[in-house]
Amino acid sequence: MSAFWARHAWVGGGIVDRVRIECSAGRITGITAGADAAAGDHELPGVVYPGAVNAHSHAFHRLLRGRTHGDGGSFWTWRDLMYREAGRLTPESYERIATAVYAEKVAAGWTSVAEFHYVHHRPGGEPYDEPHAMELALARAARAAGIRLTLLDTCYLSSGFGAPLAPEQERFGDGTAERWLDRLAALRARFAAEFAPDEVSVGAALHSVRAVPVDALATIAARIGTLDGPDGPGAAAGDAGLPAMPLHIHLSEQPAENEACLAATGRTPTDLLHEHGLLGPRLSAVHATHLTAGDIDLLGSARATIVMCPTTEADLGDGIGPARRLADAGANLSLGSDQHVMLDPLAEARALEHGERLASGERGRFSPAELVRAMTAGGAASTGRDVGEIRVGALCDLIAIDPASVRTAGSDPAQLVMSAFAADVREVVIGGRSRVSEGVHRELGGLADIAADLVAASSAN
Ligand SMILES: [Zn+2]
Repeated sequence: MSAFWARHAWVGGGIVDRVRIECSAGRITGITAGADAAAGDHELPGVVYPGAVNAHSHAFHRLLRGRTHGDGGSFWTWRDLMYREAGRLTPESYERIATAVYAEKVAAGWTSVAEFHYVHHRPGGEPYDEPHAMELALARAARAAGIRLTLLDTCYLSSGFGAPLAPEQERFGDGTAERWLDRLAALRARFAAEFAPDEVSVGAALHSVRAVPVDALATIAARIGTLDGPDGPGAAAGDAGLPAMPLHIHLSEQPAENEACLAATGRTPTDLLHEHGLLGPRLSAVHATHLTAGDIDLLGSARATIVMCPTTEADLGDGIGPARRLADAGANLSLGSDQHVMLDPLAEARALEHGERLASGERGRFSPAELVRAMTAGGAASTGRDVGEIRVGALCDLIAIDPASVRTAGSDPAQLVMSAFAADVREVVIGGRSRVSEGVHRELGGLADIAADLVAASSAN
């Protein structure tokens, strides 16, 4: 058993003073407000919030940061550069790159990540001798950095409606929905045997309605529930009312996707998922930027999670999704950093509100408490874990935010989400264990060295 003490902590949706948090076997076992620190308690340096949950990540997209702005371009030209990086990855370089990215995430205050992973095979599509080589690379990276990983193994079968994979996409594909489902089942069994489910687990993703043909959607819908299993990863999460196996999809990020879907099927992407019974609490819809009123009603009444990625959506010029309307309709909101144009959960949460303000001309579209929830517990269903709250029984993931930095001095502790940045995160605890302190990762060292290794791993490709 260990115990942490904080002058202020975010408990039950608000700030509580002088809080003692007890932890055993990685979970919170006791919370006492108005308490003094006991001898041996670890005093956390700042206002303590639950660890942030990153519900959408492509680790290797970090390689594009600060390198795609030279000649304007569009979402689709950005994607060409991304494919070039994807084509160069090896299991070895992927592990080094992801280790650096996950360490940067942990230092920023993200303590869980849902990794939307589709670089499965060798360039050209031939499997590696170790069929899960790329997935194991990500799992090892997450373990090294200390972040909780939900590896979303992604189904990617076509380059558009009625179009086969392009050559640069061949390593993403398994050929058929059945082969993807078989590989997913094998991966879940393998990871359940090798990793602690609180640390590394396997979920599922469909890349998009562009990449998964309609007949494959039907096959997947018929079989996806059978993969949950009573003993597999996420089974304990199922006991906590969370989906045993999360299912994610990129949804309506670009108007062109909606137009192609309507032309091919007569339905919007959301309606197509609804038709196949794929909407529900298991589903995390990523972006959900360009929706009809009917789409919003469907996602809301299904109690789906919407993963907003505000800094990526701004960077790519995607548009501003209807976050407030989705929340009002009943959807659960979470946040992801997607292509990692920055890694900063506080800036991401703030950008959610800023987008709403810019689009509506109104302030206070989301309260600070709603933004904190999107940044933390909003991602629990997306990861299939009991994370994102300082609550007895939850996993003990905590971040301490400096309330007296040059950026935050004078801020109300309950409104730090509107003023603090990742640079104000002074300590990060995951599973009751301190992983980052004062910007230094306890196992991997200083962040500048970690970033230098990312560049070295990428150029050695
Ligand atoms: Zn994405």
